[in-house]
Amino acid sequence: MRDFNAELEQRKLAGLYRIRRQIAGPQQPVLTANGKRLLSFCSNDYLGLANHPSNIEALRNALPETGLGGAASHLICGHHEAHHLLEERLAAFTGRSSALFFSTGYMANLGAISALAGRGDTVFSDQLNHASIIDGCSLSRATVRRYPHGDVASLAVMLAETPGHKLVVTDGVFSMDGDVAPLRELADVCRAHDALLVVDDAHGFGVLGPQGRGSVAELGLCEADVPVLVGTLGKAAGTSGAFVAGPVMLMDYLVQKARTYIYTTAMPPALALASCTSLELIEQGDDRRAHLHSLIERFRRDAAAFGYQLMPSRTPVQPIMIGGNQEALALSQALEACGLLVTAIRPPTVPEGEARLRVTLSAAHSHDDLECLLQALSDCRHLLGS
Ligand SMILES: *Cc1c(COP(=O)(O)O)cnc(C)c1O
Repeated sequence: MRDFNAELEQRKLAGLYRIRRQIAGPQQPVLTANGKRLLSFCSNDYLGLANHPSNIEALRNALPETGLGGAASHLICGHHEAHHLLEERLAAFTGRSSALFFSTGYMANLGAISALAGRGDTVFSDQLNHASIIDGCSLSRATVRRYPHGDVASLAVMLAETPGHKLVVTDGVFSMDGDVAPLRELADVCRAHDALLVVDDAHGFGVLGPQGRGSVAELGLCEADVPVLVGTLGKAAGTSGAFVAGPVMLMDYLVQKARTYIYTTAMPPALALASCTSLELIEQGDDRRAHLHSLIERFRRDAAAFGYQLMPSRTPVQPIMIGGNQEALALSQALEACGLLVTAIRPPTVPEGEARLRVTLSAAHSHDDLECLLQALSDCRHLLGS
């Protein structure tokens, strides 16, 4: 048998060992983690909706109507009218013809990519795409070609030399870097080479674009430009689940073929109704987004002034680049000693030598919260040398 324990010990030595903190109470900036009160800057609850009273009330009100369990898959008897309503709302919100509700974003990517590409086809995937996209590519059994991050010119060359069915897949906002993909250029090159474009907007949905409609809507790109749009509801929407949106025919195809849609129990329908309420909050959330963007601007200005290396990101994902795993852990621990929770992100989540602190900002943070983070970053700056 393989020496699993030796691998664990090896991970510890390399600074790659991962631990879980136990959180008590709701997700909000001030958390209890392992019994200690910490001010958190690592959640993806970008609009502060994970603990919003309207969403909680919507869930509570829905439960007597829908009951709790999903009970069966969508194709047996699990497709509740609550799920269907959410799909219609998501399609309208994203300006798509139809939408399909999945239980998680991980499953949405796995299901959509493996259904839309198969053996003999080629999938082109941005080098920094999320793990769920990478796994969806593997599961598809298509030939996978990774293109350099955001490099549309290289992608165009690769597309030109590849015959057959082609799928191009990208994060809309990159989950660990916070930058936005060159979506207009990607749409153009995909059209020119008859490739199907899939955009996973897990981190843009709710945050970017008019009324939070996402990174694709921000550029005014329609269904013809981005035929397959993936979004998640566990991040800015503060609930749970995910969706794929696009032409009716393609969504029908996914109902027939996407294994992570077919072979799993439907989410509790009451959660879908809570997500409908959350969509309304997102739509009416211009004040939250304005506040969030003022936090982002201030963080970037001050952290850069202290000499931290930031990434070209205008989104709530604001990594502080460190490099070494141990150095990233040391800074994270020093911040924790100051009462702050900012997790170190290490390989294989990010490339080797690119360990970082992934700071995420939320509309639930106050400027005083941000002041605490900035003060601690200033105090801990000496840990990194110059
Ligand atoms: C978080 C994330 C997912 C997975 O979504 P879940 O609903 O959490 O499973 C997919 N894609 C990207 C880019 C993500 O950041």
